[in-house]
Amino acid sequence: MQNNDDTSLPRRQFVKLAGASAGVAMLPLAGCGGDSDSGSSASTTVDSAVADVEAAANDAVDAAKEMADDVAGEVAAAVDTVEEAASDAMDAAEDASSDAMDVAQDAVNDAADTVNEAVSGNSLPQLTEDDAQAVALGYQHDASTVSNDRYEAGQQCQNCVLYTGGDQAWGPCSIFPGKLVNANGWCSTYTAKPSA
Ligand code: SF4
Repeated sequence: MQNNDDTSLPRRQFVKLAGASAGVAMLPLAGCGGDSDSGSSASTTVDSAVADVEAAANDAVDAAKEMADDVAGEVAAAVDTVEEAASDAMDAAEDASSDAMDVAQDAVNDAADTVNEAVSGNSLPQLTEDDAQAVALGYQHDASTVSNDRYEAGQQCQNCVLYTGGDQAWGPCSIFPGKLVNANGWCSTYTAKPSA
C-alpha cells in the first residue's frame, strides 16, 4: 500500500510539470502572432493528455487503496481467528486443570478415609449378636434390651474400659478381636472406665 502512495506522488508531480510545460509552450505561440489555430490544437492535445494521465493516476491510487483495504480486512480476520483459537486453548487448559484438581482431591479424600479407618479400626467387620462368643457373653447391640443379672442401667460399651472406639458408633473391643462392637452395646465382661 505504501508503495502505491509513494509512486502516486511522482505521477502527480509529472502531471503538474507537464501541465505547466504545456502552458509555457503555448505563450510564444500566442504572443508572436503566429498560427493561432495550430497553437490552440497543440494546447488541446496537451490538456487531453494531462487529463488522461491524471485519470490513470487517480485510478491507480483508487485501486491501490481498495487493495490495501482488502488486505487490512484479511489481516483483521486472521487476528480474530488467532485470538479465538488462543481463547479456546486457554479454556481447554483451565478445564483440564480443574479436572485434574478434582481427581487429585478425590484421591486425597480416599487416602484420608483409608487412614482414618485404619487408625480407628472401622475397616473391621461388625460383631453380630449370634456370634458364638457374643452369645456366650450375652452381648447385645442395644444395652437397654439386655436381660442379664450383671447388667446395671447406664452400662454400655462406650463407657467400658475395653472399648477403644472413642466417640464412634462402632469401635474395637479387646474381648472381640477383629470385630467392632456397638457403642450402645453391652456384654457380661463390661468393666466401667475409671472416673476422670
Ligand atoms: Fe462392650 Fe465392654 Fe463388653 Fe467389649 S467388654 S463388648 S466394650 S461391654
